[in-house]
Amino acid sequence: RVMVGNLIGEDHVNYVLMYNMLTGIRIGVSRCQAKMKRPVTDADYTAKHKYSFDIVGNELTPSARYDFKFKDYAPWIFRELREDYFHLDPADYLLSLTAKYILSELGSPGKSGSFFYFSRNYRFIIKTIHHAEHKYLRSILKDYHQHMKDNPHTLLSRFYGLHRVKLPRGRKIHFVIMNNLFPPHRDIHETYDLKGSAWGREYPEEKAKQNPKATLKDLNWVHRGRRFELGPEKRALFSEQLRRDTEFLKKIGVMDYSLLIGIHNMERGNRDNIRENQLSVFHPDVGGLARRKPSSVKGNSEASAVRKIVKRSDPKAMAFAIQELPTIDSTDRRHFLFYQDEGGLRATDEANQAMDIIYYLGVIDILTPYNTTKRLEHLWRGTTIDRVRF
Ligand code: ATP
Ligand code: CA
Ligand code: CA
Repeated sequence: RVMVGNLIGEDHVNYVLMYNMLTGIRIGVSRCQAKMKRPVTDADYTAKHKYSFDIVGNELTPSARYDFKFKDYAPWIFRELREDYFHLDPADYLLSLTAKYILSELGSPGKSGSFFYFSRNYRFIIKTIHHAEHKYLRSILKDYHQHMKDNPHTLLSRFYGLHRVKLPRGRKIHFVIMNNLFPPHRDIHETYDLKGSAWGREYPEEKAKQNPKATLKDLNWVHRGRRFELGPEKRALFSEQLRRDTEFLKKIGVMDYSLLIGIHNMERGNRDNIRENQLSVFHPDVGGLARRKPSSVKGNSEASAVRKIVKRSDPKAMAFAIQELPTIDSTDRRHFLFYQDEGGLRATDEANQAMDIIYYLGVIDILTPYNTTKRLEHLWRGTTIDRVRF
């Protein structure tokens, strides 16, 4: 996992797709947002709003660079989710995604062929999904909505929107927008994608040595002797929320999910990054901070985010960093119990005292129902995540 991904410039194969996705979101979401808020109805769950874009434009849609069609699914439901349960500021959401047409592409990290794109401030992820996943999300939307209402501290992916772009030659691309679990301002030192099963659940340790950013799996967790360091208080809260969330997934028939855990070691900090005094060269606004003693910079989210990006010394990435300094302070995360400590969950010891580890975690990939997947690991019984010993 590389935070920065590849910036999508005009010469990128997916530039048109990105342009269309962001244009659709910009127009679709602001259209809904411009109306007076009203309570949602049953019809809102199945609603879809169609937009047709072309270079001329019309009353409903401004002119666009390309011809394409856009569908916004259940816009009123997602609006309510964003505002009432996910504590997102509407303008913030729209601007994060569309103020500038900049996304970075993570490519396709999983086996499914889905593509992942980060918004320019890294708060949001656009994931392309298969038609079956799209249909599934629509079919469970009411239950999902209810679960989000009942569980403000849920660990499940927070979906902010469900859309479709149709290109002129008929290719249809469905995608969701969701929360990025990982913070822009902290290095993740180890990443685990845990399913609670053993089958094929090991990333080769040999390869991991060469690729420390690789996403590790269940058996790596076990063989490395990792423990989930949570004292009694946090452990009880966390286990209860995980129980409710996995219970919900079981009820709706989802089995192929994972608990994604990113581990930030505070002692190690962000020192994989460049030295502070190099910063001012790249960003005048952060330069002031950077010229102070390094200790005063430590933990400053903007400075470290820039450092993280700038160290790659890729001129495009630098431009990206300078346009948008990611920060975590102004976000929704402070409302959520398990995302409160610097955007994550701080480890605690048996006496509930804070330790120098922050976990960034959540349950991801929750759109594949049991009957459409043929993986062996589903032979495992019960709520699989519980089987990993934390
Ligand atoms: P497959 O079905 O083969 O497992 P997929 O294409 O459905 O793959 P996911 O399992 O959803 O992909 O995610 C793949 C990887 O992308 C994860 O292991 C994780 O590293 C990263 N990722 C996915 N969702 C998030 C998220 N919300 N926040 C941060 N990273 C994420
Ligand atoms: Ca997965
Ligand atoms: Ca998947």
